Amino acid sequence: SATPVNVTVTGAAGQIGYALLFRIASGHLLGPDTPVKLRLLEIPQGVKAAEGTAMELEDCAFPLLAGIDIFDDPTAGFEGANVALLVGARPRAKGMERGDLLEANGGIFGPQGQAINAGAAEDIKVLVVGNPANTNALIAQRNAPDVPADRFTAMTRLDHNRALSQLAGKTGAAVSEIKDLTIWGNHSATQYPDIFHATIGGKPASDLVDQAWLESDFIPTVAKRGAAIIEARGASSAASAANAAIDHVYDWVNGTSADSWTSAAIVSDGSYGVPEGLISSFPVRAKGGEWEIVQGLEVSDFSRGRIDASVAELVEERDAVQGLGLI
Ligand code: NDP
Repeated sequence: SATPVNVTVTGAAGQIGYALLFRIASGHLLGPDTPVKLRLLEIPQGVKAAEGTAMELEDCAFPLLAGIDIFDDPTAGFEGANVALLVGARPRAKGMERGDLLEANGGIFGPQGQAINAGAAEDIKVLVVGNPANTNALIAQRNAPDVPADRFTAMTRLDHNRALSQLAGKTGAAVSEIKDLTIWGNHSATQYPDIFHATIGGKPASDLVDQAWLESDFIPTVAKRGAAIIEARGASSAASAANAAIDHVYDWVNGTSADSWTSAAIVSDGSYGVPEGLISSFPVRAKGGEWEIVQGLEVSDFSRGRIDASVAELVEERDAVQGLGLI
């Protein structure tokens, strides 16, 4: 039988972790033929709850789940990891300045990057979910100098999926008929969901919706969906975030479908004027375990302005963590 893949999940006792682990163990992360060993990393206060989740995972008797180990030490938690899902992060507390937030997360993602550098498997693939995800991914990457830089990615797939669903709802199309939508930039309120290359049932999406809807409805709805869910549910989105993390890694490992690209925050090679080295969302395809940026798209002035604004925010965040000595 196949060798199990080691999957490390941080923040395993949190609410995204709770929605994520059962789907990993049931084969949705890597596919139905790949056994997994889960390595749950938590801070000491989270270990007991992680043990409870591990008991429930055992009680599911998943045929693909080859083992569960729980850690509160990053070096041990990332030992031999093939896939790492960095979910645990320091949330913004009331009155917290951005510098404090970045510094607190530097204290988490710096050591995790070092631990990945020291002990992860050769083929390690990292997805950062914990916010500010793009910059947390950058911190981890810069602390892992021996790991190829392109193994560090951040999640914008939830934004992508939200955009697909909003566009489907507006046009009455099925989600599966929509191709080639893009999220550009930072996973934050400045992100730019771009429909100008998208098609719906083969027709340009921009012929089916008007610019006013795009600007005053679609873009803000996608960007503010997280807040709307907190308002309605009384808790932040968890299952949809976990689902998007599964989509991201599944595509990375198994390849994207031939007929559409997707969105992921990956290290920039300078494409589309995004400064090299930033971890920014792009239109991407995955093949052979590697992401590639879709090249040659025409960028209108409207799109250019939106992309530049989000990328400027990423530059500010990078400069801030550089100023704090975190990278
Ligand atoms: P969640 O599981 O709800 O969220 C975890 C992280 O995911 C947050 O940073 C959150 O950012 C982020 N996130 C990204 N996208 C989304 C989305 N669409 N919706 C909601 N969240 C999103 O947090 P919990 O507080 O329930 O759990 C966090 C766990 O992490 C705790 O068990 C804690 O002990 C642990 N932890 C572990 C660490 C470690 O392993 N070293 C370090 C720090 C914490 P945002 O807050 O901006 O929504």
